[in-house]
Amino acid sequence: MNKSVRKIIKDRSNGRCYYCGEQLDRLFHMDHFFPKNKKHWLKNEKLMMKTFENGNCPINLTDIDDLRNMVPSCPRCNFWKSTLLVSAFRGSISNIVGKLLKYNNKFNMAVSYNMVHISHDSLVFYFENDEMKYKHYEIFNS
Ligand SMILES: [Zn+2]
Repeated sequence: MNKSVRKIIKDRSNGRCYYCGEQLDRLFHMDHFFPKNKKHWLKNEKLMMKTFENGNCPINLTDIDDLRNMVPSCPRCNFWKSTLLVSAFRGSISNIVGKLLKYNNKFNMAVSYNMVHISHDSLVFYFENDEMKYKHYEIFNS
């Protein structure tokens, strides 16, 4: 993918990771918002539909590499999301604290001594913030 296309994609989210919102450097990844593994997302079609307010997926299944489906991501979020739909990615991240509390004694120690504050707010991706959600909606409906 050439540099100017990468810049257009990066600028869609103000140069930040589409998911965590971290400032991206030049080594950012291009993530398929709807994963390339079609088998996986057909299986999760209901979850996929929830992603859009109007309930319609604007991207043709045969056109997964459509630029509208490409979002900028930091390497960490891109690897973690892997072939997951956003809904499953959210679930996977949401489970992290529970697993740490269950299995990680050092984490529990840090919590006990108020070195870590656990938020009970639901996870909001960067693209879901007040400014970005309209941009996101426009891109996928253009
Ligand atoms: Zn990220």
